[in-house]
Amino acid sequence: MTNAWSAEESTRNDNAVREWESDKFMRLLKDADTELYPGCENFTKLAFVVTLMHLKILSRWSNKSFSMLLEFLKKVLPNGETLPCSYYEAKKIIQDLGLDYEKIHACVNDCMLFKKDYEKEEQCPKCSVPRYKFAEVDNDTNGEKKRKKIPQKIL
Ligand SMILES: [Zn+2]
Repeated sequence: MTNAWSAEESTRNDNAVREWESDKFMRLLKDADTELYPGCENFTKLAFVVTLMHLKILSRWSNKSFSMLLEFLKKVLPNGETLPCSYYEAKKIIQDLGLDYEKIHACVNDCMLFKKDYEKEEQCPKCSVPRYKFAEVDNDTNGEKKRKKIPQKIL
């Protein structure tokens, strides 16, 4: 299984290198050299976006909250700031760096990943532990409780 995955991984890496077109690279060089705002000495645009995105992932901020934070920061920073306007714009910068990530549901006992043939499974084929747990959350529209499906473990 591990070999199959690493073969697939290396094919994906080869493709990624081929897709690394010069315009992306030039954009990256420009972002790495662009000040966060005129006269900013501590952060380039690229370093700031990468740091903020790292915090987002570690702290599990929602995409919406991240966009709201960017909108707020754009108002706080001096004129001429170069921050992206939204999560999607920020994500594009990170993707161009080749630092994108993919979330894969996993068995809570680490038996397997819910991908490929197992993508639609609702429980682990090996240990039969359910893929999801359920949580009661407030329904925004009528204030009643509703059940929400949450993956037990994410890689
Ligand atoms: Zn399992």
